[in-house]
Amino acid sequence: MIAPVKIAEEPEISIVVPFYNEAENVEALHARLLPVLEKARKSFEIVYVDDGSSDGTADILRLLHSRDSRIRVIIFNRNYGQHAAISAGLDRARGEVVVTLDGDLQNPPEEIPKLLDKIDEGYDVVGGWRTERRDSALRLFFSRAVNRMASRIVGVKMNDYGCMLRAYRRTVVDHICGCGEISTFVPALANAFAGSVAEVPIAHAPRRAGGSRYTLLRLLRLNFDLMTGFSLLPVQIVGIVGAIAAVTGVANAVVVSAWWLFHGGPIDRGGIFFAVVLFFIGIQILGIGLVGEYVARIYMEVRRRPRYIVSEVLE
Ligand code: UDP
Ligand code: MG
Repeated sequence: MIAPVKIAEEPEISIVVPFYNEAENVEALHARLLPVLEKARKSFEIVYVDDGSSDGTADILRLLHSRDSRIRVIIFNRNYGQHAAISAGLDRARGEVVVTLDGDLQNPPEEIPKLLDKIDEGYDVVGGWRTERRDSALRLFFSRAVNRMASRIVGVKMNDYGCMLRAYRRTVVDHICGCGEISTFVPALANAFAGSVAEVPIAHAPRRAGGSRYTLLRLLRLNFDLMTGFSLLPVQIVGIVGAIAAVTGVANAVVVSAWWLFHGGPIDRGGIFFAVVLFFIGIQILGIGLVGEYVARIYMEVRRRPRYIVSEVLE
């Protein structure tokens, strides 16, 4: 029996790890994580989140908690998704710096000190950048597109938005938690609030046991959340398509009429009909786009995400 270890009230570091059916990986992860933290010579706590596992992951976490009071455990009643689990961990983490990582050992815990060193340089958010990823070609292709899109819509360029080995400073964590958003993408939300962001190259390992907990559909949904949660682009595209159709309709009418004026003869009735129909279809799509724009603005309002964050006021 190991003696219980006392925990400092506000540790310097919190580690947050989400688990979904990771019974085979929990203990291996913990066994590698603990020495890393103990070597870092900082006070720490570990927040393990069980995202509704059905394979006994929660029982293993309970056991770990009973042995060491630096380990705090949150257990969901069902599966809510990786980002919900991370959010729950962030909500309860008390550390000055919070580090998140995956529970399948794809993010080597030994890389954590690199992030801590970087955050000590004064950054608000430090992301791990998996320079050599151990995932399928399809995932890599998908990730590249997502990184480009996320960089653009969040307005902060990063090479790796998908890597969950990341460190956040307390101020950023407080802002993320203050949002209380239902569907979210934590790294993007953090970057929306961070004053300074850095990336450090880190290693990436194949999954220790089991397969990815994401199906293609879940992955698509997550990324759709990212797109709709951070930009009005989808609905604006609808409006733009409508406007282009309406303008094309008008242009078509002008061309047909000009042809008739200069060449005489019978007017091209089909051409005029097509122009009119195209114009009205375009106006309708534009209308849907405009309504969508207002709905989107209501959506932005009800979310109550802060519009800006002041770091200092001198009066
Ligand atoms: N995860 C979770 N809830 C989910 C899906 C995943 O908590 O609904 C956890 C999972 O247990 C792992 C981490 O999130 O610790 C990353 O999941 P996974 O390895 O399946 O994703 P991938 O590496 O394929 O992106
Ligand atoms: Mg994984």
